[in-house]
Formats: sequence, C-alpha cells, structure tokens
Amino acid sequence: MPELPEVETIKRDLEPNTVGKIISDVEILSPKNFIGNKKEVIGRKIIDIQRFGKVLVLQLVNPLTRKQNNSYLNIHFKLSGQMLYSKNVDKAVFRNKIPFTKGNKMPANTTRVIIKFKDRSGLFFNDLRKFGWIKVSNKPLVPKGIDVLSDKFTLNIVEGLTRKTKKPIKILLMDQDLITGIGNIYANDSLFLAKVHPLRPANSLTKKEIKNLYNAIIKEIKTGINDQGSSGADEAFILPDGSRGKHQRHFLVYQREEEPCRRCKTIIKRIKHHGRSSFFCPKCQETV
Ligand SMILES: [Zn+2]
Repeated sequence: MPELPEVETIKRDLEPNTVGKIISDVEILSPKNFIGNKKEVIGRKIIDIQRFGKVLVLQLVNPLTRKQNNSYLNIHFKLSGQMLYSKNVDKAVFRNKIPFTKGNKMPANTTRVIIKFKDRSGLFFNDLRKFGWIKVSNKPLVPKGIDVLSDKFTLNIVEGLTRKTKKPIKILLMDQDLITGIGNIYANDSLFLAKVHPLRPANSLTKKEIKNLYNAIIKEIKTGINDQGSSGADEAFILPDGSRGKHQRHFLVYQREEEPCRRCKTIIKRIKHHGRSSFFCPKCQETV
C-alpha cells in the first residue's frame, strides 16, 4: 500500500507533467473507482497538486471564468492503486513491465480511470484490488489525522497520543484518524530504529523511547521520500513513469524475515497481528 513517501513521490513526479494542463476527457472503465460527475472536471485546468497524508489532491479551475469556486480531484491509492503518466495517452508504452498488469502498455487489465489532457498526454489510474478511488469535490478531502510532515506533528502531540491508550504502539502509529501517512513499512522500520517492540502498549513507552520513536518516524519518512518510495517484492507501487522506487533496498526489518538484524545480526522475526505482518529484531526490540 502506498504510504506517505510513495504518495509524495507520485506528487513530485506528476507536478511538472500535469500542472497547467486542461482535462479534455475522463474515461471511467470502473464506475466503482470514480465518484462524482466527470462533467465537473472536463474542460478544467489543473493549477496545483497537494498531498494530505495518503490523499493526493488536484486543484482545478475553469480556465474561461477563472472563478475561485474551484473543484478538486481527490485520489486515494488504498491497497494497490497506481498512477501512470504518458505523453501519448492513446498509445502509452512504458519502459518497464507494470506490476499487476500483463506488460508495459496502457490501458491495462487493471486500468480503472483514464484522465486525458488537451495536449494528448494523460494519466492512467490502475487498481488491481479496486479499493482505491478518485472523487470529485468542491473542497479538498483532507484526512482527519495529523500529517507526519506537517508542523502539527510535534513530539508533544505524539507523547499525548501514546499516553491515552494501551493499544500496541504499532496500531497507534498506523491509525489514520490520529496520524496520517504511516503504513506497515514505515511503522515497522521506525519502531526498529527506536528499539521499541511493535506490540508494546503505547502508554508503557518512556519519555526517551517516545522521543526516539518520533525522530525515527521523521527520519524513515524522509529517507523513503529521498529513495522515491518503496517498490517491495509483492507491492504495486511504481512512479508515474513506470520506474520503481528504491527504498526497498534499505528496509531495516520490513520484509526481512529470517534475515540478520542490520544492528546485531540476530534473525529478524515476523508475527501476524491485526491482520498485518510485524517484523522486528527479538534482541534490539525486547518486549517490556
Ligand atoms: Zn538486532
């Protein structure tokens, strides 16, 4: 599932290719994945792209009236969403094979929505599992939780959140209503970096552990962005040009079951918890 660094990478890649362009058509191949009236966006110009947690928001204006009552295209990638950009939307070919599709041409078997631009370029929204969505709205659909990269994400806030619950710390980090942007990859690796076991009750963390965890989260998220996101073994994430992210090369514990800990060489363990895999070093992250 794309997390904050992956969605930020998509945003940075799309910015120079889409801002300033006029939408000429929207082809909806799967009505479940497009919510709203496409007529409200056809003829509109993209003037900005923003990211709020894992949601990407394209701000549109009517280029004829330039009125401020704008519309927005909100995109959530959920489990398996992808966004590909091609200069030639009617004959789109990519250098690499696109994960979960049969090859390197678009549209593919997983393409749900095609957004075409006036200059013949366009976007393909692919989604194998069909949980992702594009929604038309008159204001950005900003998630409830605090974005890790926003000024609101402070040590004080994290300390306050951990004090309030005895839920496992990893569950708290991934609760999108509280903190938005951290998923399984960055939760596992941040906890390793902070030497905190994923199942530790949140309110059992010491002040020092909370500080270490807070710094670890920011470090991991920023490293993920610098690496242009994670294209792990079984994951859908790719950049809009079809290339892979590089962060999977630097996973600390995530997807490293049975491999030696990068710090102490102890074998990394995996446990299933809340339907998700947790990876940890039994020595560096001792349960307390
Ligand atoms: Zn270790």
